[in-house]
Amino acid sequence: MSNLDELYRDMLLEFYMDTSHKGELKESEHREGKNISCGDEVTLYMKHDGDRIIKASFTGDGCVVSQASASVMAHLLEGKTLEEARRLILNFISFMKGDTEDISEELKIFEGVKQFPSRVKCATLAWHTALELIEDIMKKKGN
Ligand code: ZN
Repeated sequence: MSNLDELYRDMLLEFYMDTSHKGELKESEHREGKNISCGDEVTLYMKHDGDRIIKASFTGDGCVVSQASASVMAHLLEGKTLEEARRLILNFISFMKGDTEDISEELKIFEGVKQFPSRVKCATLAWHTALELIEDIMKKKGN
């Protein structure tokens, strides 16, 4: 294992243990997602004020990759507009599929996960769930 791999693994664990975005959000929109192949579950909560996401959190259970990914995502989505969030999510999903290398620094910690196709589903579970939720909110708002 290279030093970079070790660094990324440590950062993944840090996000896994970070509970600052963990927990239910009252009076928020939410959506559940499941990754049957690994047994991961994530419920994503989002509060928005007009076009802007003011708070995001999650509850869930599953492997380190799936839960760390939900944690870092909730952190990154806060403060973004719905459209910015949608673009960030699509960018991360393409990155995990190997379609782009152009990704923000904090998301490079998932680079090593790409070598394991079955784990890619773990890493993208929260993101696919968030994408559905955001597209739902956008539809309801009529844009
Ligand atoms: Zn998993």
